[in-house]
Amino acid sequence: MNIPLRCRCGKLEGEVDASRVKARAICYCKDCQAFARFLKAQDAVLDASGGTEVEAMLPSGVRFTKGLEHLACLSLSPKGIYRWYASCCDTPVGNTPRNPKAAYLGLVRTCLAAPDEELDRRLGRSHITANTGSAHGPAKTTPVATVFAVASLGTMLVKARLDGGWRDNPFFDTAGAPVRTPRVLTREERAAVTP
Ligand SMILES: [Zn+2]
Ligand SMILES: [Zn+2]
Repeated sequence: MNIPLRCRCGKLEGEVDASRVKARAICYCKDCQAFARFLKAQDAVLDASGGTEVEAMLPSGVRFTKGLEHLACLSLSPKGIYRWYASCCDTPVGNTPRNPKAAYLGLVRTCLAAPDEELDRRLGRSHITANTGSAHGPAKTTPVATVFAVASLGTMLVKARLDGGWRDNPFFDTAGAPVRTPRVLTREERAAVTP
């Protein structure tokens, strides 16, 4: 059974295959904080130390079932990663590299319509942390777990690249272009939301 994906207003819906989630992470980087702040979703997304919970997974594990027209994309800079969100209510959905051959999606927990207990049961309880240097409160580091998670993600990327699985990605078309034209923030827009 899949985990339901739903934006906060309910117009964008989908489902997530839990078996394609490789690690749960909390990222404290300034860009993830800026993304949440740009969407004015910081209350729903950021924890007390400025962390964003993301589920590191294969993009092929996500299927949108309703309201795909609300999916939108932005980037914090001309070379920044793509940051996907539901434009109907500015709910963050996830982050992808610009190159779809790197089959990675950091799905933002906020768009999963399931209580924490269910996610713990389906995805495991442990979280790795990243970029704790820009946390603005207590954030534990998880060096050993991070090494294992990075290795597992690396295996996932290489396998998807070799077997062509990277083409199965709802955020990119078959030619490898993003399904939405990304809005690139200006320097001023970015500066205004960067902590
Ligand atoms: Zn919405
Ligand atoms: Zn981040």
